[in-house]
Amino acid sequence: MTERRLLVVDDEAVQRLVVASAAARAGFAADSAATLEAAVSRVGSVAYDVVVLDLGLRKNDGIELLRRLCDSKSDPVLVFISAFDERVRQAAARLAMSLGLRVAGTLGKPMRVDELIALLRRVPQAAGPGHLEQIRTIDPDILAAAIEHGELTCAFQPKVTLNGRHLIGVEALARWRSPTLGHVPPSLFIPVAERSGLIDRLTWHVLDEALAAFRAWRMASPDMTLAVNLSPLSLTDLSLPERVSDALAKADVPAAALVLEVTEGAVMTDCVAAADILTRLRIRDVKLSIDDFGTGHSSLLSLMRLPFSELKIDQSFVRDCLDDPEAPKIIRGIVSVARDLGLKLVAEGIETEPVATQVEKLGCLVGQGYLFAPPLAATALYEHLRANAADDAAD
Ligand code: C2E
Ligand code: MG
Ligand code: MG
Repeated sequence: MTERRLLVVDDEAVQRLVVASAAARAGFAADSAATLEAAVSRVGSVAYDVVVLDLGLRKNDGIELLRRLCDSKSDPVLVFISAFDERVRQAAARLAMSLGLRVAGTLGKPMRVDELIALLRRVPQAAGPGHLEQIRTIDPDILAAAIEHGELTCAFQPKVTLNGRHLIGVEALARWRSPTLGHVPPSLFIPVAERSGLIDRLTWHVLDEALAAFRAWRMASPDMTLAVNLSPLSLTDLSLPERVSDALAKADVPAAALVLEVTEGAVMTDCVAAADILTRLRIRDVKLSIDDFGTGHSSLLSLMRLPFSELKIDQSFVRDCLDDPEAPKIIRGIVSVARDLGLKLVAEGIETEPVATQVEKLGCLVGQGYLFAPPLAATALYEHLRANAADDAAD
């Protein structure tokens, strides 16, 4: 087995030595870099398994390196070390993850060597290509053909009220089972669709399929809503509101039943066009939801300027709300912003009862997550709806 490679990026010479010796004890061959330039040149020529990064590298150089890593041939697992408090380290970890990078953990300074060794020993052996590498190896032509041939389908995940567990809506999530690649998750094929200009075709395919299934369910549950994800990159097509109206008319579904979820993590390329399109969608009575709230760059600004009607608290805050002391404070803040702006609020990624209880206690009334139901195939969701209707009738 070839030895795994680790790069330590830190401007303090002693720290570089300490990390390198801990790395050797955890079975890594270590290189070091004292500056951003040196680190960029290293990751450009060597495919590292792990990068240990000091966030306090001059100015924002530590963060700058994250962006460079996305474009480099390396796809390492990251470990952050920093004298900043836990909150700053967590923010950096979230930023890295939103860029598609993997994070093994964060450590404070002064660092405990035994903790670093334990963390490095837990870094899994690379089993095939990493996340970024997998995205790069999906051929856009194969994805285009998959959309064309109907290989992409929708799964539907319920949104429920937290107090009564009543189903109030579903979110359509794209699924791709390729005959050659097997099951490919959206975290891999959505970025490929976005980079290769296929995202609009994918969106229209998902919207048509989701509306067709939803139409039948509305008979049983007329108040429920259908949410469909919209890439921020699609917010440049000024004909989008008309096309959405056409799709709704074709499926005979009222506009007020549709929620378009726009992820806030990505940057909107053209803010004027985005505001134009979103406003016209709202005028047509389509609801707009800001997805993964709290991970983006300009969340509050977007909220105030754009006509969103719903806000989805990102899973990372929900998941950590019992363990991370900062998470409940953030959720409480988001609840209060949502209330002041008159927005509906959804907590996503609820996996356990204690988390559901805590999130409800913090003021969130609607939830989505594996605790209630995973994303389900259309037929399974129909069964779920019938069971739900029977429960409601028995109440
Ligand atoms: P999202 O819109 O925030 O969707 C929620 C994701 O969380 C889904 O992942 C869902 O399966 C997952 N999830 C739901 N409950 C839980 C839970 O309790 N725990 C955990 N750990 N995860 C949970 P999925 O289906 O893999 O989709 C990932 C992302 O891909 C979506 O995040 C969305 O941003 C994007 N995506 C999916 N379908 C589409 C699509 O049709 N168009 C676009 N533009 N993006 C899509
Ligand atoms: Mg969503
Ligand atoms: Mg989300």
